[in-house]
Amino acid sequence: MSDEPRTMTLAIIKPDAFGSGKAGAVLSTLEDAGFRIRGSRVVHLSDAAAGAFYAVHHERPFFGSLVEFMTSGPCMPLALEHERAVPYLREVIGATDPAEAEPGTVRALYAESKERNAIHASDSDENARVELGFFFGNVDLIAGR
Ligand code: GDP
Repeated sequence: MSDEPRTMTLAIIKPDAFGSGKAGAVLSTLEDAGFRIRGSRVVHLSDAAAGAFYAVHHERPFFGSLVEFMTSGPCMPLALEHERAVPYLREVIGATDPAEAEPGTVRALYAESKERNAIHASDSDENARVELGFFFGNVDLIAGR
């Protein structure tokens, strides 16, 4: 066992992968990488919720399209635990654009395009804390510990 602390991060299996029946395959990839699933839900985001979640991108030209995509069908938020969970999950999902993602990463395997890219992952410990709070209450996160 490593001495690295186990920490939690937030992933979302996005509407493209969830809608095409790839949720199980994505979960298998994440579990095979060593993540423990500590929380999961299926939600259909409203415009307001998707806009709030991606508020940091509000000024970007793709914001409207991103909100439209993220509200186009159900998605699956996940609370995932691992050592150095945030940077490790970023490695496991691969680059934003699947054309640039390393072979074997979730996005290389399951993303359709730079926007419809199968999965979200928090990009810092602080954002992970905020994003976990967005979808999961304390009860979900302490269950099973
Ligand atoms: P991530 O952290 O790898 O998810 O990437 P970002 O935080 O930069 O972007 C958030 C999400 O917006 C991405 O996962 C994509 O779904 C989408 N996105 C990012 N860049 C682009 C872009 O240039 N065009 C479009 N259409 N969508 C983008």
